[in-house]
Amino acid sequence: MTLMTSWVESANNPTHPFPLNNLPYGVFSTEGKDPRCGVAIGDMILDCRAAEDAGLLDLGTPLFDVPFWNEVMEEGAELWARLRARLTEILTEGSADRNAAKDMLVAQAEAEMHLPFLVSEYTDFYAGRNHAFNVGTMFRGPENALPPNWLHIPIGYNGRASSVVVSGTDIRRPWGQLKGPNDEMPRFAPCARFDIELEMGAIVGQASDGPITVQEADDNIFGYVLLNDWSARDIQAWEYQPLGPFQAKATATSISPWIVTKAALEPFRVDTPEREFELLDHLKDVGPMLYDIDLAVTIAPEGKQATTIARTNYREMYYSAAQQLAHHSSAGTPMNAGDLLGSGTISGPTKPERGSLLELSWGGKEPLTLDSGETRSFIEDGDTLTLHGNAKGDGYTIGFGDCTGSVIAALDDPYAR
Ligand code: CA
Repeated sequence: MTLMTSWVESANNPTHPFPLNNLPYGVFSTEGKDPRCGVAIGDMILDCRAAEDAGLLDLGTPLFDVPFWNEVMEEGAELWARLRARLTEILTEGSADRNAAKDMLVAQAEAEMHLPFLVSEYTDFYAGRNHAFNVGTMFRGPENALPPNWLHIPIGYNGRASSVVVSGTDIRRPWGQLKGPNDEMPRFAPCARFDIELEMGAIVGQASDGPITVQEADDNIFGYVLLNDWSARDIQAWEYQPLGPFQAKATATSISPWIVTKAALEPFRVDTPEREFELLDHLKDVGPMLYDIDLAVTIAPEGKQATTIARTNYREMYYSAAQQLAHHSSAGTPMNAGDLLGSGTISGPTKPERGSLLELSWGGKEPLTLDSGETRSFIEDGDTLTLHGNAKGDGYTIGFGDCTGSVIAALDDPYAR
């Protein structure tokens, strides 16, 4: 696969995140106009509602009379392919549709982005081996770092769909119950160890009812976003046994505004890592199931330049999203279009590849020095944290668009009315 050229000039730059090869789906609004579905092409957005209203984007059923992509998802994989083919036809170099479509382009610089889909339910996994090993080592020592089940099932917990926000949303530092020093009583206070988790989110596009195979799970995935699972480490440390995280993960979950489709990522498929134990049949790999996507995290203190604090790759995952989805369905729960599955924190094997401040600062023992000269163990008020993701093709890039959020000070009194 090489760069597919478009009549939208900015899309033909080999480092631009949104070439014709990508065509990611978002929801945007402009001055005085309601949110609506659009597809990114170069620096522009093709207004899908306008294109549908004008008869340019007629897939035989109305899809864009709503400001979210769930209706497209629910139509299924055959329609997903037809829609992508039609958008490619409209936006390709030399297209007969150019004159009709050019008035339906909106500059991204003038658009505000919204959540691209209605999040039906949200589950977060813990399926990056280096992350699980690092965190386990900090809490239990290297011999007991991975729990005995870890190499056999992708561990997860049910999060809150209502916590999911679009990139750019400010994140208020939470309050929570924290363990007192030594054996003192716990206290209710602002989180002092607020953190990020670098993750990918997989979006279920086709519903299922009952156990599905890994291949069926892969077929049912619509696309991917970058996901930041904001984490209050001090709240987590006190609450997490025995049922896992709860309030520590309930503040917010940021996602990047563009859904990068599974179709756009096909050229980047790679194998999962070698297995220490053979997986049971219902979780076995069915071909290359991860993607070669470069990931990075930057932190910018208020008014200061950004420093890159981590670089890793989605291929560091131990379990693919399809294996997570197959496992999730295995006891019979129905899965719905719009379900969001967080991958778990993605960390590579070396220190600069760690996808959380907890790991980067080793629980606060090894603070990072930023380019501005400041140090960080955890997030300070005013910091802006941004996740970046790019798959590098032959002369083109499949970008995700940033997943960013600024942390603002905790309220003086969270119960003040
Ligand atoms: Ca997480």
